Amino acid sequence: MPIAENLHTIWNTLPAGVKLVGVSKFHPDSAILEAYQAGQRMFGESRVQELIQKQAALPKDIAWHFIGHLQSNKIKTVLPLVSLIQSVDSVHLIEEMEHEAVKQNRHVDCLLQVHIAKESTKYGFTFDEIHQFFQSDIFSSLKYLHIVGLMGLATYTDDVEVIRGEFRALKTLFDELKTGYFQHVDEFHTLSMGMTNDYLIAIEEGSTMVRIGTAVFGLRPCALV
Ligand SMILES: *Cc1c(COP(=O)(O)O)cnc(C)c1O
Repeated sequence: MPIAENLHTIWNTLPAGVKLVGVSKFHPDSAILEAYQAGQRMFGESRVQELIQKQAALPKDIAWHFIGHLQSNKIKTVLPLVSLIQSVDSVHLIEEMEHEAVKQNRHVDCLLQVHIAKESTKYGFTFDEIHQFFQSDIFSSLKYLHIVGLMGLATYTDDVEVIRGEFRALKTLFDELKTGYFQHVDEFHTLSMGMTNDYLIAIEEGSTMVRIGTAVFGLRPCALV
């Protein structure tokens, strides 16, 4: 199916308030332009080199999200290119990002990636680590880095109840943090969960942002990521 048609199908299933990030990693500029011309403006990339090239070549009103594992030595390059970093997965990275954001005098929105899946290979904070971080001075002293929500990837399985349970746990954590640390500010608003295979479940469980690649662009040339 053409990309525009895929997008319209997905948009029609999204309740008001749920945003779509078109995950364009490994897809060519031409595919992204097709989505852009259909009206899609938010795209997700997981590799820095690819992001740099696409950001330079494609329309400037695209909002790029970084969704892959970010190495400290790439922070400087990535900050000016993106509107949201979804995959902040360690306290060390938070400290380095704040440092670089101050240096660039740039406010940066990010999500903390939480490990909710059974697979041990996926990056992210544990629930305990998240609680510890929010209680720490590092969190309360952030000035340029804005933590606007959480992101998670469910286990890759056909078992709907496993997926649902993981999303539900993430939503519960999200609500706890919002109540505990953001009661008087509207800053903590984004719960990014749901991909091609599980986004309808994610929406039922309270997602506000889905990250969809395959259902928009078709299969990636490299099936591994
Ligand atoms: C690749 C990727 C997606 C999109 O996956 P699809 O199954 O193709 O929709 C979403 N989120 C992250 C973090 C990804 O790396």
